[in-house]
Amino acid sequence: EKPQILDDEEGGILFFSAPPSSSSRFGYSSIEKQRQRLPVYKYRNAILYLVETHATSIIVGETGSGKTTQIPQYLNEAGWAEGGRVIACTQPRRLAVQAVASRVAEEMGVKLGEEVGYVIRFEDLTKPGATKIKFLTDGVLLREMMDDPLLTNYSVIMVDEAHERSLSTDILLGLLKKIQRRRPELRIIISSATIEAKTMSSFFNTRRANGKTVEAIEPRKDPAILSVEGRGFNVQIHYLEEPASDYLQAAVSTVLSIHDQSFLDPAPQHCSRLFVLPLYSGLSRADQDLIFSPTPRGKRKVIVSTNIAETSLTLEGIVYVVDSGFSKQRFYNPISDIENLVVAPISKASARQRAGRAGRVRSGKCYRLYTEEYFVNEMSAEGIPEMQRSNLVSCVIQLKALGIDNILGFDWPASPAPEAMIRALEVLYSLGIIDDDAKLTSPIGFQVAEIPLDPMISKMILSGSLLGCLEEVITIAAILSVQSIWVSVRGVQKEMDEVKLRFAAAEGDHVTYLNVYKAFLQSGKSSQWCYKNFINYHAMRKVMETREQLKRITQRLGIALKSCERDTQVLRKAITTGFFANACRLEAFSQAGMYKTIKSSQEVYIHPSSVLFRVNPKWVIYNSIVSTDRHYMRNVIAIDPSWLTEAAPQFYHHQRGEKVAY
Ligand code: ADP
Ligand code: MG
Repeated sequence: EKPQILDDEEGGILFFSAPPSSSSRFGYSSIEKQRQRLPVYKYRNAILYLVETHATSIIVGETGSGKTTQIPQYLNEAGWAEGGRVIACTQPRRLAVQAVASRVAEEMGVKLGEEVGYVIRFEDLTKPGATKIKFLTDGVLLREMMDDPLLTNYSVIMVDEAHERSLSTDILLGLLKKIQRRRPELRIIISSATIEAKTMSSFFNTRRANGKTVEAIEPRKDPAILSVEGRGFNVQIHYLEEPASDYLQAAVSTVLSIHDQSFLDPAPQHCSRLFVLPLYSGLSRADQDLIFSPTPRGKRKVIVSTNIAETSLTLEGIVYVVDSGFSKQRFYNPISDIENLVVAPISKASARQRAGRAGRVRSGKCYRLYTEEYFVNEMSAEGIPEMQRSNLVSCVIQLKALGIDNILGFDWPASPAPEAMIRALEVLYSLGIIDDDAKLTSPIGFQVAEIPLDPMISKMILSGSLLGCLEEVITIAAILSVQSIWVSVRGVQKEMDEVKLRFAAAEGDHVTYLNVYKAFLQSGKSSQWCYKNFINYHAMRKVMETREQLKRITQRLGIALKSCERDTQVLRKAITTGFFANACRLEAFSQAGMYKTIKSSQEVYIHPSSVLFRVNPKWVIYNSIVSTDRHYMRNVIAIDPSWLTEAAPQFYHHQRGEKVAY
């Protein structure tokens, strides 16, 4: 009866690979030969010529054609990293950054972190002065602009996976266009798996004047478009006759029937066992290695993947693809101010990408878990850019920190919704991050912008320092930045709940996390202890690392590290100053456990994973919302309503005693 606990991940494709055949095209050839076989290799000189002669080049090529791993190497070979300059290649996803960086280091025969390095949030594996090719998330590159607005270290910036139109990619493209005017020698490569290239090309070809689009002044700077012809094999598409009622079940039975049928297929070797592996951004390094390693003899690899395998990562040997027709997407409603990840239908462009994963090594098959009629008539042609379905608070603060004040007039590849923009400005204003003129406040606004976390969390950290509980709030911030500190094991729910009770604090989840963290330290950071207590050891390691980074950042900001010891009230007040906008009140006379958000009267419930589930304190604050059949609050803490008016007098004002209204 408990709702399914959704991970904070996009998701929904299922891959089904053939057994490895001993005549694998890549099995015995040298790395150099492999490189030369990639479709992009034929275009090596053409690409280098375009980059030489054009400020912006757009390169379109099917996934697996070699864009990400080869182009940075070509540029390096052609001397673009000489004289201490760096070639950057951005990715929307952290896991892709790590995976491609290690692949490129391997191809070049160098140690990762030297000539080839990567940077993701809270992890820098580069060596200044030595690193020539640097892979990084687009979010990290945006942050680098705060210290070096013209990105002067870089000779070429390749914005990869541009077709995904992630929020950070779009902001980055807008800013790069500005930088280009000041740095004509900078080269930009936009690479994309689909032909949205036209849109990109016109974006880079025009500049906005007084809100109107005008033709570029220097046509010679027209972006060049190059399309890398793939050598994909034929992929046979299968549809369902009737819509599936449960895509998960449909996926599992499709996989099993592919497996059964292929025993009748004379070509592949017989393999009786399925080797099922998950693939998602938060995967540990060891589990990532399993994805890329050869399938054990006599087994068949099945990879259950989120959107990450749609275009970001190339997996060799996939012959069957099962496409659920869904992915998890971020959706933001500016009216309720709720952003969450929902399982939503994919676009035709995505469906084609997914199918394409099957035809890389030989002809393949794609099973779409929807009807052909649905594909043809109902699926939208392209997805909506993330910019138009996200909460823009972080985006606004980053642009402000870069000195871009007229945000509504900013030259976006896709304009965000004005309502979302106004909401973001309102929230930042009430957090005290921007002032009446919509400029960053000093010091709070500038400090918040320095911390690479959600502004609400950053504000919580800064208040924590004022209230004398910085030790605690950075621990909480570090824990909130990992997906979950609990392991997810099915079938032991009862045992897990009992263990959780040992740490549970009546105040709520944040205090509970502190109890877990303390006990973990007392155990000597033991993996055994984690195992016994259903705690994810890797997540705890990540928490410690992140905490160290946050400690360093706060030191740089000159903030004092103090502990409030057992005074959880102070701590909860600090949380309230960051998250007051997420306050909710229990509806005493309604359905059991129903809360309403103060700012928009949205109906919400405490998530079953929270220690406050069924406890239902009268006033709570949540950290995020997960929506399944209902809106569920995750990471919940009990508060006193008077703290709200204390924390944000502009946002809340008392009306008749305890009723607090926006
Ligand atoms: P694109 O960016 O065009 O999608 P990539 O440059 O990522 O293509 O991949 C090119 C080729 O390099 C793939 O087809 C695959 O053969 C190989 N490759 C990429 N990453 C890995 C990896 N981690 N392990 C093994 N081979 C890889
Ligand atoms: Mg790529």
